[in-house]
Amino acid sequence: MKIKSWAEPYKIKMVELLKMTSPEERKAAIGKAGYNTFLLKSEDVYIDLLTDSGTSAMSDRQWAGMMFGDEAYAGSRNYYKLEEAVQSIYGYKYLVPTHQGRGAEHLLSQVMIKKGDIIPGNMYFTTTRLHQELAGGTFRDVIIDEAHDPDCEFPFKGNVDLNKLEDLVREFGAERIPYVSIATTVNMAGGQPVSMENLKALRAFTNKHGIKIIHDMTRVAENAWMIKQLEKGYKNKTTAEIVREICDLTDGATMSAKKDALVNIGGFLALNDYDVFEEARNLVVVYEGLHTYGGLAGRDMEAMAIGIRESVSDDHIHARVGQVHYLGNLLKKAGIPIVKPVGTHGVFIDAKAFLPHLSQDEFPAQSLAAELYLASGIRTMERGVVSAGRNKKTGAHNYPKLELVRLTIPRRVYTQAHMDVVTETVVELHKQREQITGLEMVYEPRYLRFFQARFKKKE
Ligand SMILES: *Cc1c(COP(=O)(O)O)cnc(C)c1O
Repeated sequence: MKIKSWAEPYKIKMVELLKMTSPEERKAAIGKAGYNTFLLKSEDVYIDLLTDSGTSAMSDRQWAGMMFGDEAYAGSRNYYKLEEAVQSIYGYKYLVPTHQGRGAEHLLSQVMIKKGDIIPGNMYFTTTRLHQELAGGTFRDVIIDEAHDPDCEFPFKGNVDLNKLEDLVREFGAERIPYVSIATTVNMAGGQPVSMENLKALRAFTNKHGIKIIHDMTRVAENAWMIKQLEKGYKNKTTAEIVREICDLTDGATMSAKKDALVNIGGFLALNDYDVFEEARNLVVVYEGLHTYGGLAGRDMEAMAIGIRESVSDDHIHARVGQVHYLGNLLKKAGIPIVKPVGTHGVFIDAKAFLPHLSQDEFPAQSLAAELYLASGIRTMERGVVSAGRNKKTGAHNYPKLELVRLTIPRRVYTQAHMDVVTETVVELHKQREQITGLEMVYEPRYLRFFQARFKKKE
């Protein structure tokens, strides 16, 4: 007999108690937070779907590993264990640990990007693009058009459109393109995977032009799992084998270990090119810490090394993606407009379709995120016009086609019953959607405004 249901390959040893709040308490809390879910106190939140970043539950083995932390300033044994995990699981030659993903993006951008360079990528990510710009580069989106259409069911919406890339090479010349930035899976497109076929074609194209591929490998195991499910020829390969095949097609990677790798803090830059590595290893001491800890405690590197191995286990990733798809399928069945196909790390509600009476200037996704909190204490995140920021030259809002509310599922944290509560809340809110009004921005920070912007309700 083959059991088709997904279930967790673990049982629960310790629980974290949550505070249940009243509607009045939530109203006060979201008002105080300026209708920005980033500014809520976590203790006022019941089900926290703000992000899957750094919110995973560590395993008994990872916790035990913390006791093996070697907190020497230089040459900590945990660094060597992490290096070994990165080399053997991902196959990259050289490791520079950083405090989290953006630390690696910063080092990489400073080392590889010159003023005036163009960096094509399969959709932007907030911190990635900002570091490219701060280094004097310009990001250009080369993702396939399907990625911008929330209703398109194409299974690999993270793919690169090689025609768009070719146009950039023709317009600017390959010399001005130091690398193509490839995310697995694509966060801003709704957690959509890239296919191996597309990666191979991209490798052939970039080889021809002498352009490198830098891999934003934040959710590479989730991407590998989707390849295993959907791509011809991969059904009998393990997630670990597919992860390795993806990494082997690229020249280096930035990693936020707070996602796939099941730790609460950590990241790294991994490279195959010794010269780039040497410069990054020198720069890390300026911004992060010595090259054998990069802003991390020894125990964090130990937990990361163990988490990397757990993250590529088929049983783990089956339950992880299975839970996300469970929620997505319930919402889809209830007729809620969500990004299709369901992504690997969260479910993305199409706020433009959910609140068609609001214009993008009224921040529909921001407003819907606030309403979800008000309704039952669920915390989600805006991924729309607020996240997209302003045009560097004109100063006008960037208006992304996708105006989304992200329900991101932390790894190994919530139960199926929590997913049922989330579904019920969204469905009930959808019935009352006409009463939801827009927001007005009353405070706007200069960088990554979505983290700290404040809003008030429009009357
Ligand atoms: C989270 C994330 C980053 C940045 O990593 P941090 O650890 O948050 O600094 C980069 N790229 C993608 C796709 C991410 O999801």
